[in-house]
Amino acid sequence: MDVLKITPRGYCHGVVEAIRAAKQTAKAHPGEKIRMLGYLVHNTHVTDELQQNGIDLVDSDNRLEGLDQIESGTVIFTAHGVSPAVKDKAAARGLNLVDATCSDVVVTHDLVKDLAERGYDVVYVGRRGHPEPEGVIGEAPGKVHLVQDPEDVDALDIKNEKIAVTCQTTLSIWDTAAMIKRVREKYPQTEAYNEICRATQDRQEAAVEAAKECDIVIVVGSERSSNSKRLVQVVRELAHKPAYLVDTAKDIKLEWLQGKQRVGVTSGASTPTQLTRQVIEYLEAL
Ligand code: SF4
Repeated sequence: MDVLKITPRGYCHGVVEAIRAAKQTAKAHPGEKIRMLGYLVHNTHVTDELQQNGIDLVDSDNRLEGLDQIESGTVIFTAHGVSPAVKDKAAARGLNLVDATCSDVVVTHDLVKDLAERGYDVVYVGRRGHPEPEGVIGEAPGKVHLVQDPEDVDALDIKNEKIAVTCQTTLSIWDTAAMIKRVREKYPQTEAYNEICRATQDRQEAAVEAAKECDIVIVVGSERSSNSKRLVQVVRELAHKPAYLVDTAKDIKLEWLQGKQRVGVTSGASTPTQLTRQVIEYLEAL
């Protein structure tokens, strides 16, 4: 196969910093109980490695409930961020807190908090069940309206004259623009704050552009990873090329490649480089 290595791909600054913070914590507190409250970043291989470094996983989608499983020691908040209620509860339990929230997510928290304090209702475009919206919405409960699909926008009933719209950092650039447009059509006075992070934007734009020169695109990343799944989505929807998500080279099905000459390879922002390298080597050897 002719393999096109799409750049940029792989680790973003938020993932690098979160992993560094977690490993430094384990090194600084040998023998102590250290837990990550959810997957530090959404990649199973990274999480496995951290567990081998002595950092246990509390696998709970609800961060507040997850804290009930931690009696003592250190808790690491993941790159996706947590709500103030989670921070308060962890502090009240006397836990040692390590906050590995990505700085780009912190910006969205601060934005939503500021808007709510200034009297705005905030429409937040995000994915239900993902920890990032849970944390951001927790900055101003009752003032933030989560919308995932166009129908959610249609169902909004906001009486406030002051309305703002913002979004999760790892969504599709194009879907989010359409959602923001829909909100502004319904409420023309809406102020828009697009918070898709630079890493997500760069990877999506590069993948769509490169896909035009490929017959198929393989995205290396875990099923939990929002930004990895969005890479598959944007290649399919914008470049109209087949695209598949694989965790490792073992997930590649030869039938996908039949009759194809050129395969593009990219990876999510939390995918370790060696996994992507293995996929590239596998494809080049075909
Ligand atoms: Fe931060 Fe974006 Fe990376 Fe998420 S994908 S950790 S928001 S830089």
